[in-house]
Amino acid sequence: MIPLIELTSVPEGLLEIKEARNLHTVLPHPTLLTLEGHHKEALFVTVLLHGNEDTGLFAIQKILKKYRNRPLPRSLVVFFGNVYAAKEGLRRLDGQPDYNRVWPEGEEPQSDEAHLIERVVRRVTGKPLFASIDIHNNTGKNPHYGCINRLESDFLYLASLFSRIIVYFETPKGVQSMALAKYCPAITIECGKPHVSRGIEHAAEFVDSLLHLSAFPHRGPHTKEVEVFHTVARVTIPERFSFGFADADTDIRLPEELEEDNFKELPAGTPFGWVRPGSGARFEVFDDAGRECFDDFFTMEKNEIRLAKRMMPAMITRDLKIIRQDCLCYLMERYAMPQL
Ligand SMILES: [Zn+2]
Repeated sequence: MIPLIELTSVPEGLLEIKEARNLHTVLPHPTLLTLEGHHKEALFVTVLLHGNEDTGLFAIQKILKKYRNRPLPRSLVVFFGNVYAAKEGLRRLDGQPDYNRVWPEGEEPQSDEAHLIERVVRRVTGKPLFASIDIHNNTGKNPHYGCINRLESDFLYLASLFSRIIVYFETPKGVQSMALAKYCPAITIECGKPHVSRGIEHAAEFVDSLLHLSAFPHRGPHTKEVEVFHTVARVTIPERFSFGFADADTDIRLPEELEEDNFKELPAGTPFGWVRPGSGARFEVFDDAGRECFDDFFTMEKNEIRLAKRMMPAMITRDLKIIRQDCLCYLMERYAMPQL
């Protein structure tokens, strides 16, 4: 069983940590920090569900420093997730399930990690919640954006306070924002690459704005103020095929500049890769129902993989390990949002 540390005051040393790798010296295990504020409906924030994504940790440090000697406008509950992977600078350790796939109704429900998260959810949802924020980074070049799992006015309003770019997704399951959506407006925020001050500032400002917001206005943002995209497919590279960028001697070669295409609407025919002749290599593409649907999104002609129709990719990275552990990218379509 994974221990869960529960604290009701900021532990000594937490605010002085400069690297997520050293967080274990203060918090040796996953930790739930509960701080009372003026409004009792708490804001729940999770950081380091992915151990290499440190922006959430530093954003929370900023908030805790700001309110060190004055009361919080609203109660705040922070979950520091995968401190073990953070120690190694990794998204997750080999052999660990992903800490953002084991929330209720997710993967590996019998794992120690799923049991840990179950305890966290029980603790956090035992009292009324105001909103929930899960803070992440990407490894590729992406704008800051918020992800929601419900197209309801409070969720859209919450997302619009972070970015005009909003991504709506239904898979993968077992992510924090989907689990918390049952209890309060919930969002995953993607704050660009880790350890960048602009991302840290932005995340901290967003958390602070939610601490100050007294109520949701019960109307969505104006459709002109936001752009909503819907993820329709997840692109992976099967374990059995090697891959690399540019002229790598691998089964699949990816275009050198592919990362530049994140959040750009790409026309049909855009090249996505080249396949070693005779290798039989290809991507695997999954829709929300988990159905393999390569042919709906890509064409393969003369060993060249191209987009079959107009699509916008997100989360393309050059990090080969992340591509293996997560995916090559998500494919999105613009969503025509009704005014709520
Ligand atoms: Zn992440």
